[in-house]
Amino acid sequence: MDLFPSPWFHLGGDEYFGLAWKECPGCQKLAQAAREAGEDNAELQTMFSKCLGDHDKYLLYRRLMRRVCAFVVSKGRQPVLWDDLSWQGNYPAGVVVNQ
Ligand SMILES: [Zn+2]
Repeated sequence: MDLFPSPWFHLGGDEYFGLAWKECPGCQKLAQAAREAGEDNAELQTMFSKCLGDHDKYLLYRRLMRRVCAFVVSKGRQPVLWDDLSWQGNYPAGVVVNQ
């Protein structure tokens, strides 16, 4: 965190493929938990239909980004995400969505 003194912290995270997550039993368990928690709803599936690949990766990606955002916020910074990766994110307050 000391390397980047700005109040904003861009997390990048675009152009990922999630291929390893699909092969990992632990990640598939997390994706199943997200589905059971109701995170895989009709609106999200409509959004997934425009994206490439298996949509489990989006459930896992969103989970990961929530955790990273919470970490950045805990360090007193404002996370910034690309808008195309912020689907129904329920991200912590203060997250900036960048286009
Ligand atoms: Zn895994």
